[in-house]
Amino acid sequence: MADVIDVVVIGSGFGGLFAATELGRRGRDVLVVDATDRPGGIAETISESGYSLEPAAGTFLLPHRALTPLLAAGGVAVEHTAPEAGLRYVWTRDRLAAIPSSPKAVLTRAVSVRGKFRMALEPFIRSRPPADEESLKSFMTRRLGTEAGTLISHIAASGIYAGDPSTLSVGAAFPAIVALEADAGSVVRGAIRRIRALPKPRPERPKSHVPVGGMALAARSLATTLGDRYRPNFKVTAVTREGDNFRIEGPEVLFAREVVVALRPDSARAILPTVDADVLTGWPSSPVVVVGIGGRAEDVPLPNGFGYLAGPDVNAVGLGCLFESVYAPGRAAPGHSLAKVIVGGARNPDVVSWSDERILGAVTSEMERALGVSISPTWTKVVRHHTGIPNYDLDHRRRLGGIDSLESQNPGLIFAGWGYRGIGVAHLALDAMTIADRITER
Ligand SMILES: Cc1cc2nc3c(=O)[nH]c(=O)nc-3n(C[C@H](O)[C@H](O)[C@H](O)COP(=O)(O)OP(=O)(O)OC[C@H]3O[C@@H](n4cnc5c(N)ncnc54)[C@H](O)[C@@H]3O)c2cc1C
Repeated sequence: MADVIDVVVIGSGFGGLFAATELGRRGRDVLVVDATDRPGGIAETISESGYSLEPAAGTFLLPHRALTPLLAAGGVAVEHTAPEAGLRYVWTRDRLAAIPSSPKAVLTRAVSVRGKFRMALEPFIRSRPPADEESLKSFMTRRLGTEAGTLISHIAASGIYAGDPSTLSVGAAFPAIVALEADAGSVVRGAIRRIRALPKPRPERPKSHVPVGGMALAARSLATTLGDRYRPNFKVTAVTREGDNFRIEGPEVLFAREVVVALRPDSARAILPTVDADVLTGWPSSPVVVVGIGGRAEDVPLPNGFGYLAGPDVNAVGLGCLFESVYAPGRAAPGHSLAKVIVGGARNPDVVSWSDERILGAVTSEMERALGVSISPTWTKVVRHHTGIPNYDLDHRRRLGGIDSLESQNPGLIFAGWGYRGIGVAHLALDAMTIADRITER
């Protein structure tokens, strides 16, 4: 038998890269393999004609207890987004209404006076959560009233999951909000309690950051730090048990004591012929298309701010638009604009099969309606995510229970990635810490 490696990580998206980086930091003999010729998975910066489009993750909040040390360990340089990133809009009632990211958000014009009044009653509303899974929409309307709850649940669902607030589980998709209510009987009172419990001096407030050179450079930097412990062009075809070890088949056969499968459930199922396939089947997701719209600043005029999300009353295939060149340094050449529009999602999943021309036509006319200006792009890019964004629906936590059972029936087999316990790269960093703890304990 060939040498036995401590841990093989399958998949070099940010989930796999972080797990491998953290295991390496703790002195484990780790090898990360990927089917493609580059690290980073879906987070791949597209650099063309002076534009730099991030078709998946593009920003994250720092400092963060797991992400900050992992980026540092992987030699990833980061920079602040422009102050404009604090200004966000919702496209509702035929106009853009600002939603500042502070308590002043209650002043937004997106909600009527009556709706704001009901929102302000939140700390005094006594209502019990249902005994079983609650949807995001039910939670928000129960706490904030129908108007604000419908709006906020819609933009939270589409802004993060491209999902439907009636089918996302608030406990699985937004556990921190549920914890506030569980803690203090109200989201607002729970938040105040958390703030009061912060140590003095108060820790630095997390702010929006981007990696210098984009997500592709960040991934390359993490992979370079791993050195020959990162192997591209290694498509794993099967993982099976052989004695005390795992046998990993690909362009060659590897043996490992532990395997981290940093793949979506459907891809994991394809390489695990001997595990219960049902557990890895039926995980829902929302297909999305990411569209880059670039041009001279006067041809693609963008307001100051981070971007807008379309409200529940808007009939549009675009879920939202990020003003990339406004808040992120270097995403367009000076004097030029770049917008990133996310299209499709749970409401319009068929958009992924539309032609580029049809998608671009819909995107530009919707931007014109939302911004009230005329848009004439000279550079465009259409990136389809057919598998889409994982949706943590009302059955998600039951399915996660199945993953826990699968892991305990197969000691040494661990599942990672955004399909399971958190959708953003900060969650993947936290997951990497947990995985390293579990492997170290074993
Ligand atoms: C439109 C959009 C916007 C987003 N914006 C943000 C954001 O602003 N901030 C944020 O934090 N997050 C954001 N995200 C989420 C973020 O991009 C994901 O959390 C992250 O990229 C997922 O990484 P992963 O490692 O779990 O999966 P992936 O990136 O899918 O990686 C899986 C890897 O496994 C490899 N692989 C597959 N099968 C095999 C096999 N058989 N053998 C070997 N290798 C294999 C693939 O090649 C791939 O490299 C966004 C996502 C999208 C779609």
